Amino acid sequence: MSGGEGRLRRIVVAGGGTAGWMAAAAIARTMGHAVELTLVESDAIGTIGVGESTIPPLAIFNRLLGINEADFMRATGATFKLGILFNGWKTEGSSYFHSFGLTGKDHWSAGFQHFWMYGQSKGHTQSYDDYCLELVAAMQGRFAHLPNDGTNYAYQLDSGLYARFLRQMAEADGTKRVEGRIARVELDGESGDIAALHLDSGQRIEGDLFLDCTGFRALLMEGALHTGFDDWTHWLPCDSAIAVQTDNVGPPVPYTRATAHDAGWQWRIPLQHRTGNGIVYCSRYLAQDAALERLLANVEGPVLTEPNRIRFTTGVRRQQWHRNCVAIGLSGGFMEPLESTSIHLIQRSVLRLIRMLPLRQVSARDIAEFNDQQFQDMEQIRDFLILHYCVTDRRDSAFWRQVSSMSIPDSLAQKIELFRETGRVFRRNEELFAENSWIQVLMGQGITPAAWHPVAEKLRDDELDQFLRSIREQVARTVATMPDHGTYVARYCGAA
Ligand code: FAD
Repeated sequence: MSGGEGRLRRIVVAGGGTAGWMAAAAIARTMGHAVELTLVESDAIGTIGVGESTIPPLAIFNRLLGINEADFMRATGATFKLGILFNGWKTEGSSYFHSFGLTGKDHWSAGFQHFWMYGQSKGHTQSYDDYCLELVAAMQGRFAHLPNDGTNYAYQLDSGLYARFLRQMAEADGTKRVEGRIARVELDGESGDIAALHLDSGQRIEGDLFLDCTGFRALLMEGALHTGFDDWTHWLPCDSAIAVQTDNVGPPVPYTRATAHDAGWQWRIPLQHRTGNGIVYCSRYLAQDAALERLLANVEGPVLTEPNRIRFTTGVRRQQWHRNCVAIGLSGGFMEPLESTSIHLIQRSVLRLIRMLPLRQVSARDIAEFNDQQFQDMEQIRDFLILHYCVTDRRDSAFWRQVSSMSIPDSLAQKIELFRETGRVFRRNEELFAENSWIQVLMGQGITPAAWHPVAEKLRDDELDQFLRSIREQVARTVATMPDHGTYVARYCGAA
């Protein structure tokens, strides 16, 4: 024990999925000198076995841990991801792209969308998409790291392989791994805190702080501490998924595809060595057999795996940190993977916990702060996901009629109506999805603002023309220098 008597010393991670190993790797690397870290996982139970699409902050997590990007990509079969192509969300035949880049150039007083809208009123016909480097590159299947952090990107990866990669790091940094099934959680009779985990083997593992990374089971946070769950199914009614992996057909594209169907949507995520596919649906409107049939009818390439059928309830655990237990990953809640946010939420929880790691005893203030920040993250993501459903012209099935007429959170209604009336979007409190994301999805789902900011009209016609053209040409010129994504990945990972 370092740092004096009474210091929190023993951290026990229950569960070794992506959440468990991300937590262990990060804590071991930053705090391994000061804490004893034990991770318990059950090979017999296994992990959820899905999770492939991510968002840009994962690169920051990897950098904080000192991970070499090419090593990581080789180990996880990763490709680069520049955004998500949404097919069939506004109407059955429509599509739009949510990219990770910035579109155009903002003025301090008004976002680029105001200048673009003013341009449209003056007869400019070019798409809003043409002003975003990442979007144009994605659509042409190109990728490159550009100087000065010039490309904003994420990864498409095998999260099971990522967990394995992190496990090696965590073990090298001193994490003790115990294999076995947790049969019982022992509570301290006086404090009500978790005292120890009991395994089938009879082993008893004591700890000062416990991380519940046991997935949907939430063995500690729910099973032992009964903290309760806020169900958000009335806003996000999909409750089932089926996943299969297929062989790649052609080179991998640098984006994830989310194609809506009449009771949910289907994903396609190309990795280096295979493609991940899955159907997400509402069981009230689509039976499991029919969902599987639909999934298989819409994959490209030979199927490599047995279907992985998953049921879930969308929502959040009422306490993310309670007593001496913190829920990380699926144990803390789940929202469908429409915007690839689950692995990101693990990252946020782990980094937040490290910042608030108890020094001697768990502080009620830390717990309150942690829970507030976690809920804010989750509610903001929830609103962004609901947006994809509630603003749509689709009325072709009972599912779409339900989601297009449901009542929505006030926070989301304010955002939608503000954009509809004024073309403005504001990012509040370090919200994960910034203005550019909201604008692309709001416009993609079919909202055209009624007005633009008058500052755009300060430009004379020839100045506006020059301003818009210079951005478009710069984007097109840069993208033309970028190689094909598949070739770039192979070269970067040393396979070509
Ligand atoms: P799990 O993977 O379930 O791990 C739980 C761990 O706890 C396992 O090691 C298990 O063995 C252990 N355990 C459980 N009970 C016991 C016990 N009694 N004793 C001992 N050990 C036990 N996220 C993204 O970011 N992008 C995506 O594209 C994406 N797609 C998804 C698609 C679907 C359909 C679903 C359901 C999720 C998706 N996710 C995605 C979420 C992502 O899969 C998870 O966030 C991530 O894998 C973390 O899972 P986990 O570690 O919390 O849980």
